[in-house]
Order: sequence, then structure tokens, then C-alpha cells
Amino acid sequence: MRPEESDKSLRKFPEIRRKSIETIQVNLGYRCNQACSHCHVDAGPNRKEQMTLTTLNLVFKYIDKWKIPILDLTGGAPELNPYFRYAVEEAVARGIHVIDRCNLTILSEIGQEELARFLAKNGVHVVASLPCHSKTNVDRQRGTGIFELD
Ligand code: SF4
Repeated sequence: MRPEESDKSLRKFPEIRRKSIETIQVNLGYRCNQACSHCHVDAGPNRKEQMTLTTLNLVFKYIDKWKIPILDLTGGAPELNPYFRYAVEEAVARGIHVIDRCNLTILSEIGQEELARFLAKNGVHVVASLPCHSKTNVDRQRGTGIFELD
């Protein structure tokens, strides 16, 4: 294609306009109570990377500035970030709808006994993941016995 033809096709391209932001997805860290073989962020119990409170507060500044109505929390297991509950409560206080990308097994972990109640109390929308409907596949990906926990 000659350069002038390329310019013509560029001129025909429709304008792109940015609309308002509806959802901000925030990865709170790579720590997880699972170590699934299919995990695309290689999360696991030995990962140390966690979003700090300073960074989380910056996220809320951004949310406030752009009036973003939905906060989508993911990880790792986002609930393992020490500021997970703070994030939920700050969002709820602003009238923001919160989504928790939950692996469900976190609800059975020691120290998380109150988590389900906390999520329910704050009206958190739980999006749960289960790798497969088959016990064999789930246990292969997440470890023996995990299907029964899920
Ligand atoms: S539960 Fe999710 S975040 Fe955790 S290791 Fe498995 S795929 Fe990764």
C-alpha cells in the first residue's frame, strides 16, 4: 500500500470516544490459600506481594475523582490482603457496589470464620470460581480433597 492510500484509510476510521469508567478491577495481591496449576498469576500461599494501604488509598482517590460505581476485587485470594475488609468498608461507605472474586475455599480457612458474614453484611457480590464440575479435575488442579471443600 502506498503512503497516500494508507492516509486515506486512516481518515475513514471512526472517532473513538471514551465513556465514563463503570468498573475498576483491583488486584490486591498474589497470596492465595490455593496453588492451582492453571493460575494465570501464579498465586499461592508462598507469594508475598500484597497491595499496601498507601496504594489502596490512591485507588480510592482515583475512584472518587472519576466517580466509579463498581469496585471489583481480585487476587490471588483478595480476602488475604490485610486491607481487604477496609477496602470493602470504604467502598460501601461511598455507595460503591463491591465484587469479590472468591475461590470459595477461603471461607473454610482458619481465621476466616467471619468472612461469609462480613461479605453478606456489606452486600458484597461474590463471583465464585470452581475450575471444573468434575471432582477428578478439581482435585488435579487444586489438590486432593479441594472439590469437597468447594
Ligand atoms: S484460587 Fe484462583 S488465584 Fe488462587 S491459585 Fe487458584 S486460580 Fe490462582
